[in-house]
Amino acid sequence: MRIYVCVKQVPDTSGKVAVNPDGTLNRGSMSTIINPDDMIAIEQALKLKDELGCGVTAITMGPPQAEKMLREILAMGADDSVLISSREFGGSDTFATSQIIAAAITHLGIGDEDIIFCGRQAIDGDTAQVGPQIAEKLNIPQVTYAATIKKEDKKLAIKRMLEDGYMMVEVKTPCLITCVKEEDILPRYMTINGIMECYQKPLTVLDFEALKDEPLIDIDTIGLKGSPTNIFKSFTPPQKGVGIMLEGDGKEAVAQLTSKLEKLHVI
Ligand SMILES: Cc1cc2nc3c(=O)[nH]c(=O)nc-3n(C[C@H](O)[C@H](O)[C@H](O)COP(=O)(O)OP(=O)(O)OC[C@H]3O[C@@H](n4cnc5c(N)ncnc54)[C@H](O)[C@@H]3O)c2cc1C
Repeated sequence: MRIYVCVKQVPDTSGKVAVNPDGTLNRGSMSTIINPDDMIAIEQALKLKDELGCGVTAITMGPPQAEKMLREILAMGADDSVLISSREFGGSDTFATSQIIAAAITHLGIGDEDIIFCGRQAIDGDTAQVGPQIAEKLNIPQVTYAATIKKEDKKLAIKRMLEDGYMMVEVKTPCLITCVKEEDILPRYMTINGIMECYQKPLTVLDFEALKDEPLIDIDTIGLKGSPTNIFKSFTPPQKGVGIMLEGDGKEAVAQLTSKLEKLHVI
């Protein structure tokens, strides 16, 4: 049994966000973090590893600098990692990204009891499409918005988060799960031993040459050229004005509010 965890390196949006003239993010000029939902996916995978002793492989598609993120995940407890990186893959939208990741997982091999974990969505692209699209392309079942996951024989019992409650579902392996944060799931820290060991653990780079014979890889459906999504315009929305905080209890606050609205001739 192996768990693949798909992890995306995303810009740290607490800093300055830079956009290229073609509308894509200027990722090189921004510091990066592990996508927050993917931290939950890593923790869910490592919890199952603690319980069942299975292997955990972290997979990312991104630039060579994404190695740093993979080393962090190895230091948290993953066993090995895969960096999918090639000029031909650059500029991929969700369709092309999922196509390439699905091809890489096929290349690595997917067994009867294997599970693929993804985050629910990335904080930059924000589409929540990549996980479900990988499952479709691998023709395996998927469960989205998983809050808790339990392995029972060749199936998983999953508590899915809904807008106003939970839903219990069972799914057979192999399958793909997208993870959301449940209150008691806290991603673990890297350990000192983990940091010392992470450079000895395997990190495989899969480029276009390595994947080109996979049926899902077609030069016309990957990269910027093969991406059906086009960004026509991207912009930073104008900042809203600073709000006014009204002090005091409810009655005082209402009095202040009506007085301000009267002065503005709103009432
Ligand atoms: C024309 C165009 C050009 C683009 N060019 C680039 C580009 O050059 N570089 C770039 O990074 N983005 C680029 N993007 C954005 C890119 O489409 C998305 O960031 C990417 O496909 C993932 O979609 P998302 O961020 O909405 O992820 P979501 O679908 O919200 O992610 C859900 C989950 O899928 C997994 N996942 C998503 N992306 C990856 C990944 N790369 N590796 C491993 N797991 C992943 C994670 O588990 C994540 O939590 C481009 C988009 C367009 C439309």
